[in-house]
Amino acid sequence: MKPKYYDHFHCTADKCPMTCCMQWKIAVDEETYEGWKDREFKGKTLDSFVMESDNGKIICLNEERKCPFLNPKGLCSLVLEHGETILSQTCDIFPRQIHDFEGRRECSLVSCCPAVVDLFYREDEVEFTYPLEKESIDLLFSIRNLMIEIVKNKKYPLPFSLLMAFYILLDIYGKNELTTGELSQYREESLLEELSVKIHEVESSWEDTFEEDNELWLDMVENYRKEGLYAEYIEELSRLAEELTEQYDRRKIRKKMDSFQEAFGKYENLFRNYLVSEFFTNMLIPEADLEGMVIMMQWIAMEFVLIRHGLFLKWLQDGESISYETVRDYMVVISRMTGYDEEDIFEYMENSFQSLVWEWGYMALITGID
Ligand code: SF4
Repeated sequence: MKPKYYDHFHCTADKCPMTCCMQWKIAVDEETYEGWKDREFKGKTLDSFVMESDNGKIICLNEERKCPFLNPKGLCSLVLEHGETILSQTCDIFPRQIHDFEGRRECSLVSCCPAVVDLFYREDEVEFTYPLEKESIDLLFSIRNLMIEIVKNKKYPLPFSLLMAFYILLDIYGKNELTTGELSQYREESLLEELSVKIHEVESSWEDTFEEDNELWLDMVENYRKEGLYAEYIEELSRLAEELTEQYDRRKIRKKMDSFQEAFGKYENLFRNYLVSEFFTNMLIPEADLEGMVIMMQWIAMEFVLIRHGLFLKWLQDGESISYETVRDYMVVISRMTGYDEEDIFEYMENSFQSLVWEWGYMALITGID
């Protein structure tokens, strides 16, 4: 199973506006590392460009925070000198992600690559090579597909459809037993309509959403700021976020957020496709259980609000305008910043929130209700 745009992906290489060879931790697997011990670059063996990190071996970036093998033309010196087989698994596969389950393989593309975001932008809607509504004996697979269907449904605006999906997922999580056949009740239009009306009746305030998202932003960027990573994207915005926390004028913020929502609304389809892709790629991973799916949906929602909040700050800073290229940059940067392993995501969630599984109201607070 894969999204139909999967086969249309092409790396733009030296034309890429934000190469994957900069700023982040590029993993080197053990097999590649061993093979690098007797290969050279600029008179040094390749393994000397590798260092240990908390999560295994990574390439040491140069002073410009770029991969030392990236040449001035934006191409990989290792590939040019030794051929593609020299690459570590991470570099070889990026931005593709492959998950093997019993009886099926799922292939997707991650939003950490600008060429992938361009695909999301061009697609009217994400279609898959396997029908989402088709019944399966794999309950988690069917639940994940149902969540995608809900977020894909253009009848409900974003982030509304995300809130509807989370409500239903929590409802399923709260049940002791459920069969794939019983899932069809959640597809009934009357139920979705009723849910949508109920959510509209919930009292919410964009000012509270702003406060919480601003805190989430400062928390997420903290370590990257200390390490000087992604500085050109996050440093000035984070200072603005700190200023806004200190001199917070609720009425002014409310007005600004209203205007921003209008500008942001132009990218609704892009964000819907992005969420569909995130649900497909990250909500269900091999060995996951239902609780894991709930946590991953929370993480994806957090990623979404962080991108939106970053864009809000950028929009304020840039005189209240926003281009597609800016939206793409922040989608890529925040996706790279939040691209943690499942174990680290659980740890972050455990340390940062009162409970691992959020109440629906918390999701509504950070996404806001239009
Ligand atoms: S980020 Fe994507 S388009 Fe850019 S160099 Fe990497 S794979 Fe290619």
